[in-house]
Amino acid sequence: MSYIEDKSEWYEGQGHWQHVPAEQWQDWTWQLKNRITNREQLEHYMTLTPDEKAGVAFAGQKLALSITPYFFNLIDRDDPNCPIRLQMIPREGETKVSAGEMLDSLGEDEHSPVSGVVHRYPDRVLFLVTDRCAAYCRYCTRSRMVSNAQDYNFHPEYEQGLRYIESHPEIRDVLLSGGDPLLLSDRKLEHLLARLREIPHVEFIRIGSRIPVFLPQRITPKLTEIFKKYGPIWMSIHVNHPREATAELRDACERLSFAGVPLGNQSVLLAGVNDDADVMKALVHRLLRMRVRPYYLYQMDLITGGSHFKVDVRKGLEIIRSLRGHTTGYAVPQYVIDAPGGGGKVPLNPDYIEQITDDEVVFRNYEGNLHRYPLGGESTATAPSQDPNYGLIDAS
Ligand SMILES: *Cc1c(COP(=O)(O)O)cnc(C)c1O
Ligand code: SF4
Repeated sequence: MSYIEDKSEWYEGQGHWQHVPAEQWQDWTWQLKNRITNREQLEHYMTLTPDEKAGVAFAGQKLALSITPYFFNLIDRDDPNCPIRLQMIPREGETKVSAGEMLDSLGEDEHSPVSGVVHRYPDRVLFLVTDRCAAYCRYCTRSRMVSNAQDYNFHPEYEQGLRYIESHPEIRDVLLSGGDPLLLSDRKLEHLLARLREIPHVEFIRIGSRIPVFLPQRITPKLTEIFKKYGPIWMSIHVNHPREATAELRDACERLSFAGVPLGNQSVLLAGVNDDADVMKALVHRLLRMRVRPYYLYQMDLITGGSHFKVDVRKGLEIIRSLRGHTTGYAVPQYVIDAPGGGGKVPLNPDYIEQITDDEVVFRNYEGNLHRYPLGGESTATAPSQDPNYGLIDAS
């Protein structure tokens, strides 16, 4: 339970990097330059398990190892099952390919009319503007291309992408992603946002970023000024475990919010990290307190070497059932599965309906009690019902 305790008021401070001057620690370019990227650096701070050693040896062929000092401090080096550690330190499972796993499990490349643009839904596009992230998540959906460890040689061509969007008036929504768009320089990001704002049919611009979580120092006043200038810009951040929701992240979210950026969160359901109702509830509560609305909970995509993270869909449904009605409606994310091969996102919902006929729908509420709601049918009542338990069939 120790990970669930509420530490959202606490600053993490500099942890292993006490000797570094505060202004360097606060400088996002220092954080990037001083990332942990190899086994030697890892072993300077922690003892790797044999499982991790095998994973680290393989990482260079799959997805680069990289962790910002700020985020590395969140790892519990005495606990091999630390939920931050599981997300960041490669394990042997990455070397194994299981049935059904694919490099491009969402068929993104097939739906890509020009390099960097994925046009799967009629009215919106995913615009991949970089293949780099501040740190790399071992379960990443786009591990085929991000960090370029697999020689995928993705070269984002903004001009080509922008021209595609300009010439397709049906595109009203552009989602900047990657990689992480907030790794671009202020100048490049401003240029992109300015160009998108000039396109009359683009009415909605959003950014998917894990930078506030890995590198809250990147959310500078200069950056938030850009969001103000070209806003409204919506943002989906990516937090999987309450341990990630530090005071530093909360402050970064506050800076974004105060600049008028509405914030949502996307989590991936991950074995050993957040496949637990108490952990998920602590996470969504903490997100709300940081002005972040839980948006999606993803069933993990079928990436190669990801089976050690896989969670049974029934467990995901049980987690959603444990939230809906039991806590604030705003706190409940939509659980989705991105259909393998490129069918798009499909909602997965616990089934509350027991029966529907022409006359009535019978369903259970969050407590499991059976209720009914009459549909159509001839009215036989002569007066409004006075029965306070009208509709309740069976309290479980
Ligand atoms: C997830 C995704 C979107 C955005 O979907 P929303 O449900 O609108 O958030 C758009 N395009 C692609 C290819 C996606 O994978
Ligand atoms: S931040 Fe996003 S794109 Fe980057 S490695 Fe993590 S999941 Fe993949």
